[in-house]
Amino acid sequence: MADKRDYYEVLGVDRNASADEIKKAYRKLARQYHPDVNKAPDAEAKFKEVKEAYDVLTDPQKRARYDQYGHQDPMAGFGGGASASDFAGGFGDIFDMFFGGGSRRDPNAPQRGNDLQYTMTISFKEAVFGKETDITIPRTETCDTCRGSGARPGSRVDTCSSCRGTGQEEVVQNTPFGRIVNRRVCSTCGGKGRIIRERCSVCGGSGQVKRQRKIHVKIPAGVDDGAQLRVSGEGEAGLRGGPPGDLYLVLRVQPHEFFEREGDDIYCEVPLTFAQAALGDEIEVPTLTEKVKLKIPAGTQTGTYFRLKGKGVPRLRGYGQGDQHVKVTVVTPTNLTEAQKNLLREFAASIGESTQEQHPSSIFERMKKAILGD
Ligand SMILES: [Zn+2]
Ligand SMILES: [Zn+2]
Repeated sequence: MADKRDYYEVLGVDRNASADEIKKAYRKLARQYHPDVNKAPDAEAKFKEVKEAYDVLTDPQKRARYDQYGHQDPMAGFGGGASASDFAGGFGDIFDMFFGGGSRRDPNAPQRGNDLQYTMTISFKEAVFGKETDITIPRTETCDTCRGSGARPGSRVDTCSSCRGTGQEEVVQNTPFGRIVNRRVCSTCGGKGRIIRERCSVCGGSGQVKRQRKIHVKIPAGVDDGAQLRVSGEGEAGLRGGPPGDLYLVLRVQPHEFFEREGDDIYCEVPLTFAQAALGDEIEVPTLTEKVKLKIPAGTQTGTYFRLKGKGVPRLRGYGQGDQHVKVTVVTPTNLTEAQKNLLREFAASIGESTQEQHPSSIFERMKKAILGD
């Protein structure tokens, strides 16, 4: 280890380089020396050196120790460089490293099925109270006849001679980084590693069938528009014994013509006549479940909100419910008879200018000030 190069020197970075700078330097060098790209005899050793420097300098603890002791760290298991096990898994595919691809994934390994998404429209009240229902979705399932093998039951299945059962073949590619020997799915067997002599007649050899599947779903009370529910294991079938994917239900809630919703609270607007607002009254207000009586005090202004506690939406997680907020709107009468108009004129005359004196800070006062330019 006497001639071991300094890790910072290996990566060509400053001793106080940031994690980002170290990563950048590593990626550049790894591209240069990756044995898939660089066929020089010392490329592999260089790559290992770079990788080791990177592993140490990106681990804050190891880096601190390295800064203190250099390659002469007295701690056992350190200073000797990367252990054999660090490289037991090979170098990793350069495409995995730089392109996030999985080109070297074992094509014969079990694979989880795809997730499915299903958008479901429910009514306002169904969202509030929950709903149990059946939905029918098209999905891919494992073929029952061949149990997913794709071969006619009892027929012969041979190992693929092109790839000798590995399901992979090597392909040489020219890339901006040089020539890359890349492995990809065997074109003879499609990555299965096996050649089916007689295909299953039900699935045509794919091992999977499309099916309309009825699924029972339970929508909890209190869900809101845009909510997503996961139905575990009801997605598409896995491959080669892999688990199925999940089904995601995306809920769309239809609006209600009277109620509006904001979180767990319900809002509504009820009309009042001028007489009700002025004299007070007891009115009936619909809630999500029943009609309730609401006392309107004399002199209620239009736009006033009243709260009906606990008459909102059940909380999705936890106990209790939101509230219902009732906004009252005073409706101006139209189509008055002549007699009614005269009564109102009489009423207006009786109020006269006194309105402003009764409510010195009322909107009448504020309007008067605005007119005067205050
Ligand atoms: Zn089949
Ligand atoms: Zn093959």
